Amino acid sequence: MNETSAAVRQPAGKPYVLDVRAFGRRPGTSAQVHRTVAAPERIGVDLVGIDAGEEIDLDLQVQAVSEGVLVTGTVSADTSGQCARCLGDVSGALNLFLTELYAYPDSETDKTSDDDDVYRIEDDLIDLEQAIIDAVGMELPLDPTCSDDCPGLCQGCGEKLADLEPGHAHEQIDPRWAGLAKFASEGEADGK
Ligand SMILES: [Zn+2]
Ligand SMILES: [Zn+2]
Repeated sequence: MNETSAAVRQPAGKPYVLDVRAFGRRPGTSAQVHRTVAAPERIGVDLVGIDAGEEIDLDLQVQAVSEGVLVTGTVSADTSGQCARCLGDVSGALNLFLTELYAYPDSETDKTSDDDDVYRIEDDLIDLEQAIIDAVGMELPLDPTCSDDCPGLCQGCGEKLADLEPGHAHEQIDPRWAGLAKFASEGEADGK
């Protein structure tokens, strides 16, 4: 395959779109794309995500192959969310590797794949937005923690264990014995 480079253009006002018309479908043609885009909405899972408007850094290689255009590279952004154990704030950085094939409209891949299974190139345009949203959702942890050893919340009072005295505990009385304990203490009060 001949390695040639071609320009990838960005249609005005569409930061997530790559215009690969200049590739002319020549396999081996490639380009480096470095862009910073803003998250169009909050992207992530329940407890952690990239806030709407947060910068997402894209460092991608875009390469024509026989069936379409292959996009590979890194997607990086700051994340924020909530600790799954103590519910405190967590912030972090996400750095994931994206690999996505965008099939040509009349390629074998296009004809033999369901609409949901592979992205398509439409009018020489590649729209990265959904691929990035999906990749971020797959990469983020479902149970982020503020630290590896976060002890979570006290079951008795709901306070953060990390903020409480060592050995903090609540007297637990088994509900089956609670009536008996009450009876016993009343007996003591009567002096019998
Ligand atoms: Zn925590
Ligand atoms: Zn407590």
